[in-house]
Amino acid sequence: MIHSKNDTIRSADSRLDFRTQAFIDGKFVDVASGRSFVTENPATGKTLAEIAACDKEDVNRAVAAARSVFDKGSWSRMPPEERKKVIFKFADLLENHTDELALLDCLEAGKPIQDCRTIDIPETVKCIRWHAEAIDKLYDQVSPTSSDTLALILREPIGVVGAIVPWNFPAMMAAWKIGPALATGNSILLKPSELSSLSALRMGELAAEAGVPPGVLNVLPGLGETTGQAIGLHTDIDMLAFTGSPEVGRLCLSYSAQSNLKRITLECGGKSPQVVMADAPEIDIVAENALIGAFWNMGENCTCGSRLIVHESLKDPLMDRLIELCKEWPVGDPLNHETKIGAMVEKAHMEKVLGYIEAGNSEGAHLTLGGRRVLEETGGYFIEPTIFDKVNNDMKIAREEIFGPVLSVITFASEEQAISIANDSNYGLAASIYTKDLNTAHRLSRSLKAGTVSVNCFAEGDMTTPFGGFKESGFFGRDKSIWAHEQYTQLKTIWMQLD
Ligand code: NAD
Repeated sequence: MIHSKNDTIRSADSRLDFRTQAFIDGKFVDVASGRSFVTENPATGKTLAEIAACDKEDVNRAVAAARSVFDKGSWSRMPPEERKKVIFKFADLLENHTDELALLDCLEAGKPIQDCRTIDIPETVKCIRWHAEAIDKLYDQVSPTSSDTLALILREPIGVVGAIVPWNFPAMMAAWKIGPALATGNSILLKPSELSSLSALRMGELAAEAGVPPGVLNVLPGLGETTGQAIGLHTDIDMLAFTGSPEVGRLCLSYSAQSNLKRITLECGGKSPQVVMADAPEIDIVAENALIGAFWNMGENCTCGSRLIVHESLKDPLMDRLIELCKEWPVGDPLNHETKIGAMVEKAHMEKVLGYIEAGNSEGAHLTLGGRRVLEETGGYFIEPTIFDKVNNDMKIAREEIFGPVLSVITFASEEQAISIANDSNYGLAASIYTKDLNTAHRLSRSLKAGTVSVNCFAEGDMTTPFGGFKESGFFGRDKSIWAHEQYTQLKTIWMQLD
């Protein structure tokens, strides 16, 4: 089923007031070069706005503001209870603007509005609130020294944090960084993806309205190779928290090495296996979860369960059910509340995904469903859910992160083989297992090399659970939970000689 309602898209973006300048030191400002870049609506291919493109000079200005307020201590040393109140207010303002922020992410990233309103923005709010709640519940330590000394082990904010984020969950990925970084007292330079800057700019403005002091949260839109690189190489930025592709993640490590050895955390891509054992629960349950795993957010999801590794005895019934369920996932106008699959984020990305579909065909996989660009008449970049059967784990579609609605189905005969195929990947972000046997579930969960393993569901945990990857899916960092909160602090020992 396909829906198209371009009129709704046009009228929705004409009612919005976009923020298009950089947000530095508590206000919107023009960038030094006067340069801008275009952001478009991928559901229509039309320009949404021209946004200021920050470069080195703007980054320098934002770092100076961030450093100055950090050193003054008006945020970094604000009593925890007070800081908590301000961040709560920020969360309340975000919540009150759910519809607006959801619309911005929907229009700019092509995501279904229903997902933006019911998942992305509520999760954004929850994240900011969760980290605020933790602020005055964490205690530092006194070490067990002799009675004539006193040793305190303290956690202090790192200082100025650069946060570079991707476009697939624009507001939520920003919140995963700024929630814990703000809560722990740091100053931040947030660089959204050039494909999705609008909600981040609005978040900066709402933080200021909540009482976050000028300079604490700066939002610098711009291109990766200019704004991103200037942040990465800046010698007065103490930490770079990155989410995006492993290629740019590698560059971030080199930026740190070339500059001031700033702390680096990387959250990168995935090629997650969904392993269906012969004793899996009902086919309906497996199929519903596998579908969400593969196609939710158009497959533009770092944990996308893009490899369905299924016991040979279950492959046919599972495929039949999956194909049936796909009919209930309409591709269409992201502003239509029934749409489950919106637009790919941009033309170049759509072409990349179509290139993978071509590679699947030429490498001998069997195209069972989809495989085409659809709704071309809208000017948007839509691809229908695509399933390849008879995939071999050595094929390109099974090895590389596609970041689109393309599922590879691979069969196995033994548990050993299932584990070996699942782990045969450079990535290790997430994995799912389907089995009714608790022992098998436990054994497999331990054997799979992934940061998050879900059993009998496709899930990433909630705000209480750390999120991050093994192997090339991550480096050092964890988003969400108290582990995220801690990574934005550094340990200090204070040793006192007493009488
Ligand atoms: P990307 O790596 O192309 O871009 C990510 C960010 O890096 C953007 O803000 C971009 O402008 C910036 N950037 C690009 N080039 C840069 C450079 N030379 N120097 C500094 N910054 C630069 O990734 P993307 O296409 O925006 O996002 C998709 C990727 O993100 C996928 O690999 C996906 O799996 C990953 N991702 C991971 C997680 C996670 O939590 N592990 C979450 C979401 C997305």
